[in-house]
Amino acid sequence: MKYYRRTKRGMVITEDLNEIFSTWRVGEKWLFVGPHDDDIILGSGLLLQAALRNNVDVFALVATDGRMGYCNAEQEHTISQVRKKETLDSFRILGLPEENIFFANIPDCDTNSYIGRRKAKNDDPEIKGYTGLQNAFTYFLRKVTPTRVFLPTGADLHPDHKIIYQEMLISLFHAGGNIWPELGPALKNVPWAYEFSVYCDFATPPTIKVLADDLIFQKKLEGVLAYKSQEQIASLVENLKNGGPVEFFKSVDMAFYHPENHTAEF
Ligand SMILES: [Zn+2]
Repeated sequence: MKYYRRTKRGMVITEDLNEIFSTWRVGEKWLFVGPHDDDIILGSGLLLQAALRNNVDVFALVATDGRMGYCNAEQEHTISQVRKKETLDSFRILGLPEENIFFANIPDCDTNSYIGRRKAKNDDPEIKGYTGLQNAFTYFLRKVTPTRVFLPTGADLHPDHKIIYQEMLISLFHAGGNIWPELGPALKNVPWAYEFSVYCDFATPPTIKVLADDLIFQKKLEGVLAYKSQEQIASLVENLKNGGPVEFFKSVDMAFYHPENHTAEF
């Protein structure tokens, strides 16, 4: 594996994973978040394997339940279960054990109905009596206590991707505060967040490149093919093959407001 990091002082090229983050510390714990089950492997399946090989504690959180991803009528009512099994199979190929994989079970293609947090009713996916993306994300962030979080860029066209991005970033703040104590103790350190691309490109250029060995690349392709119910998956594998064994990442830009930011403008 080879890693590249663009810095203000030039390009760092290294074979050590711990050199791609200036903030690396002992006991790294990474949470990969996917709006849908296959997003994590498509956008970061190489980095995820590199992390496992470097003894990083790795977790995956799939936000939606995949209920709208049926390609034939027989699977209309069973697709969520089919995809859950495929998700576990796919992550097993990458080396991630089942107990490190979480599902928030938010209805696929309906994430806009689950923005925020409210009391759970009827069939809502529920944690501690509440539902919503911010409820689920705050809960899982406090449960995992990650040092870094990786998720698809909010620049994607897919509304589920935009909404998961927005809801995860605000949940980082919720998880680090004292609100909603039933969801677990506040995080001592808010994790660093990074984005990767799945379908649409980054809004601004990425700063980290991962170049993988063939063995790791083949595992990624094999893992993608585990999503057998998704009939478009073969064309995605073709795209990945054409792109080669690379992935790109960038840290999430948080433009915090301070009045001093604008002092010089007046
Ligand atoms: Zn997706």
